[in-house]
Amino acid sequence: MTLTIDQDRLLSEIDALAALSDAEAPAVTRIVFTPTDLKARAWLKARCQEAGLTVRQDAIGNTFARWDGSDPNAAAVGTGSHIDAIPNAGKYDGVVGVLGGLAAIRSLRQSGFRPKYSIELLIFTAEEPTRFGIGCLGSRLLSGTLSPDAARNLTDNDGATLDEVRRKAGLGGDLEQVQLSNGYYKAFVELHIEQGPILEKQHIPLGIVTKIAAPASLRILLEGSGGHAGGVLMPDRRDALCAAAELILAIENAARSSGAIDTVATVGICEVFPGAVNSIPSKVRLSVDVRDTDLQRRDNVMRTIEDTCRAVSEKRQVTVKSELLNADAPADCAPAIIEALSQSCRKHDIQFLPMVSRAYHDSLFMARIAPIAMLFIPCRNGYSHRPDEYAAPEDIARGALILAETLAALSS
Ligand SMILES: [Zn+2]
Repeated sequence: MTLTIDQDRLLSEIDALAALSDAEAPAVTRIVFTPTDLKARAWLKARCQEAGLTVRQDAIGNTFARWDGSDPNAAAVGTGSHIDAIPNAGKYDGVVGVLGGLAAIRSLRQSGFRPKYSIELLIFTAEEPTRFGIGCLGSRLLSGTLSPDAARNLTDNDGATLDEVRRKAGLGGDLEQVQLSNGYYKAFVELHIEQGPILEKQHIPLGIVTKIAAPASLRILLEGSGGHAGGVLMPDRRDALCAAAELILAIENAARSSGAIDTVATVGICEVFPGAVNSIPSKVRLSVDVRDTDLQRRDNVMRTIEDTCRAVSEKRQVTVKSELLNADAPADCAPAIIEALSQSCRKHDIQFLPMVSRAYHDSLFMARIAPIAMLFIPCRNGYSHRPDEYAAPEDIARGALILAETLAALSS
């Protein structure tokens, strides 16, 4: 079996999809369930049908394009990603995994390959949190990470509920039916741009992801006592910003001293109230993002942060309240799929780098119900989520080729 990816066709399809956008080229904006997103979905469905795949859609709009194997009732081999794009994004994030997956399936069909296990291209709904404030909406529902009730209660920026929005987009059906059974996929592989600089820097054309890090985020509110910057003497102060400063440094230190380079913690927002030059800060709001590839280690950091909140509160006589916004579990990629990807690279004499995905993807959630792995291609300067996001044609085609080879191995 010799596999060839039609690189020109793949690139022209990436351009065609990029043209379905609410931003001026080269920027791409495609928010879930907008008229533009619906146009893109229809365009993509037609491409899948043209390729001989059977297309179905679930109640949240996750789209499955299936090539039945000779054992159609057996678990399927899945691949795919997302096509939604944040405002002013580029044209490769997600799209490379969807159209690259389609190109891989086409090349398998053209080679005369016949899968035993069905091969399915899966296009996830709303990987980006832009509209409903939560990322990976489709894969959270598929994996049972988000309950249908919680999903129904989500609202968009205009106050419309998810149910209203999806029905307007022509999606009926019952959200209860979206979750897939644990044995639905035998394996799931997602092709994606790296969104980081490592592959390009090291001149390695492919990355095989071994772990996906996951974030936990907190909002912390500190409340002390305000007052005139001249009038209140130091022994009497309960300065919320000074307390926050201690906390911020403790958070940094908790990550630095975790014992692993994969632990990262960031305080990205520090809002000071009232924020005047001659006024003692009475309130501070912090946002904290903690990530790791190891759940226990990340949770240790979270506990340290909680302990520090209590200690700082006591020491400085300020109230400190923390609210956990989310805490997804990191995922390990399946050794069997990592091996299949590695074998495919060796077969084509392509160098690869085992690596950690520090951004999270739909595969993080699919890992709850299926063995997963990811394949990364380089992107220029590591840029993503911006109009100058770029992946080289050869890199995209190479990724699709290794994906095709791996799908063949996993579905035989
Ligand atoms: Zn993505």
